[in-house]
Amino acid sequence: MEVQIKHAQSLLEKMPRVKLGFFPTPVHKLEKLSKKLGVELYLKRDDLTGINVYGGNKMRKLEFLLGDAISQGAKYVITFGATQSNHAMQTATACRICDLKPILFLLSIVTPDENDLRGNMLLDKIVGAEVNIVSSEGKPIFEGLKLSRLQSEKRIRELEEQGHKCYVIPAGGASPVGTIGFISGFVELMDQMNKMDIQLDYIGHASGSGGTLAGLAAGKKLVESKTNILSFRVSEKPKEHPETVASLANDALNLLGVDKMVNPDDLNFDSNYLGEGYEIPTDASTEALKLLARTEGILIDPVYTAKAFSGLLDYIRKGIIPEGSKILFWHTGGTTALFAEKQIIGDICS
Ligand SMILES: *Cc1c(COP(=O)(O)O)cnc(C)c1O
Repeated sequence: MEVQIKHAQSLLEKMPRVKLGFFPTPVHKLEKLSKKLGVELYLKRDDLTGINVYGGNKMRKLEFLLGDAISQGAKYVITFGATQSNHAMQTATACRICDLKPILFLLSIVTPDENDLRGNMLLDKIVGAEVNIVSSEGKPIFEGLKLSRLQSEKRIRELEEQGHKCYVIPAGGASPVGTIGFISGFVELMDQMNKMDIQLDYIGHASGSGGTLAGLAAGKKLVESKTNILSFRVSEKPKEHPETVASLANDALNLLGVDKMVNPDDLNFDSNYLGEGYEIPTDASTEALKLLARTEGILIDPVYTAKAFSGLLDYIRKGIIPEGSKILFWHTGGTTALFAEKQIIGDICS
């Protein structure tokens, strides 16, 4: 494994990159919860990536995305998400330390109150991003994002006519370049686990756009790891989503000059913990959030990590994950949602 890790690191070093976060992020064991559940449960702390206290997994992607934007001579960065998008907020924040101008097209799944901005919308405004709100018209999020993309085209044309170069980042940073960020993340984790002399049986994580998973799956191929990756969906997806994620993984491997392949069948998607939809909490996700907060003092978020963690808990309790297994939950951040609109948060205080 050590040889493969070194090789992967040397490939990653060749890619344009800006330093945004504090890597490697910590890994630690949850002692109390491990005992309670009869497994060895570890946490990877991508909620602590920086730049500030509101970090998250998108910083990994943005190191390569903004590196690419700068190497192309871009001045403006355009991206997409929901009004409470962690990705959009982290992009806007990261742009500021690279002297890039952030433009956001945000889908109002939950309508923000302009006079009482909350969570990530508030942070977007503090860092001075240009915010364009797009009405989702009750459509599933992936349909709404297509609509945002259409609306952005006019603004991009306008800027290009003025001679400005724009760099467009898809929702979630799920482009081949962004995916390299999570290949790097997987290699970083394997290096850490190697040094701790622990071989993980499972990695659990929340999957939205699919960029994180694409990177993890590609990283797993690259270093020839045997760890199972369990991906819990937090939003509705079109049927062809596994194929989309596999080709994202393969495009990213291609950029690194690697000819290994990820197949759609390699991916373990589970949609059973999504509930009614994106940004709608479930009883199980609310329970999972409170359990972590009240046994370990760790905060996860209602939209992504709590749903994924509720799935992982269910797997452990039902024995789908055998007793004694070594499991790592990838904390991908998002805790600003705890300060978002009430309907996103759920009943977390009782
Ligand atoms: C974006 C996000 C994810 C999912 O990552 P994708 O690469 O979009 O699949 C998970 N957790 C949090 C907190 C996120 O913001």
